Amino acid sequence: MLIVMGKTDPTRARHEQQSQILVPRDTPGVKVVRMLPVFGWDDAPHGHAEVLLDSVRVPAGNLLLGEGRGFEIAQGRLGPGRIHHCMRTLGAAEVALEKMTKRLLSRVAFGKKIAEHSVWEQRIAEARIDIEMTRLLCLKAADMMDKVGNKTAQLEIAMIKVAAPRVALRVIDDAIQAHGGMGVTSDAGLASSYAHIRTLRLADGPDEVHCRAIARLEMRKYTNTRI
Ligand SMILES: Cc1cc2nc3c(=O)[nH]c(=O)nc-3n(C[C@H](O)[C@H](O)[C@H](O)COP(=O)(O)OP(=O)(O)OC[C@H]3O[C@@H](n4cnc5c(N)ncnc54)[C@H](O)[C@@H]3O)c2cc1C
Repeated sequence: MLIVMGKTDPTRARHEQQSQILVPRDTPGVKVVRMLPVFGWDDAPHGHAEVLLDSVRVPAGNLLLGEGRGFEIAQGRLGPGRIHHCMRTLGAAEVALEKMTKRLLSRVAFGKKIAEHSVWEQRIAEARIDIEMTRLLCLKAADMMDKVGNKTAQLEIAMIKVAAPRVALRVIDDAIQAHGGMGVTSDAGLASSYAHIRTLRLADGPDEVHCRAIARLEMRKYTNTRI
């Protein structure tokens, strides 16, 4: 089953122009043109695909919630969806830190454990600091969503959506480095983690768009003019 979102009335107010409709996958005119591997992974069997809809017809009853309410549905999903991504992203960072630390304690290079080379103490410490700071921001955003709802928690959701993948990518990158050549192979499980988390700087809105929202909320404190 596909959920298709499209512009149904460009003359209506900005957030009422889109609708969402259910389209069974076997409806005539639905064609999966090709799968789109991400950094070489196809994430079968679901994955990401280029899908062509050519003269597809489905009953009007398949419309979700009502005409012009597609944006509203998307927004309803995006708040919790983003937080969910961030929680899993922090989990990936935690796993990377664990793998990194174990590797540094077990591997000897230049006559001593890699962990004993001071640069790695610094990297382990920064990873732990970053993960804890980000985890607390994630908790704050989730707590606000529970207590005051998505709309009021807009700032916190945007901040964690930018912060969590950044932190995780930094930690995973260091973990890859700690594993040497093995780090970039599939054996360490870090390359796939990096590829996956990297997509989260784009999926559910690129960093720049979230930063734009954060900056506008900040500037609104000091001006009466709507930015
Ligand atoms: C792996 C993956 C899975 C995805 N899954 C889904 C999904 O399930 N459902 C779905 O609907 N979408 C999904 N997406 C789409 C995703 O939400 C979009 O790719 C994302 O919102 C960016 O839109 P775009 O690709 O059209 O980039 P564009 O809008 O073309 O933007 C390109 C770049 O321009 C820059 N940019 C854009 N706006 C601004 C701005 N205001 N200020 C400064 N710079 C800006 C950013 O650097 C941005 O990366 C997925 C994407 C990926 C990569």
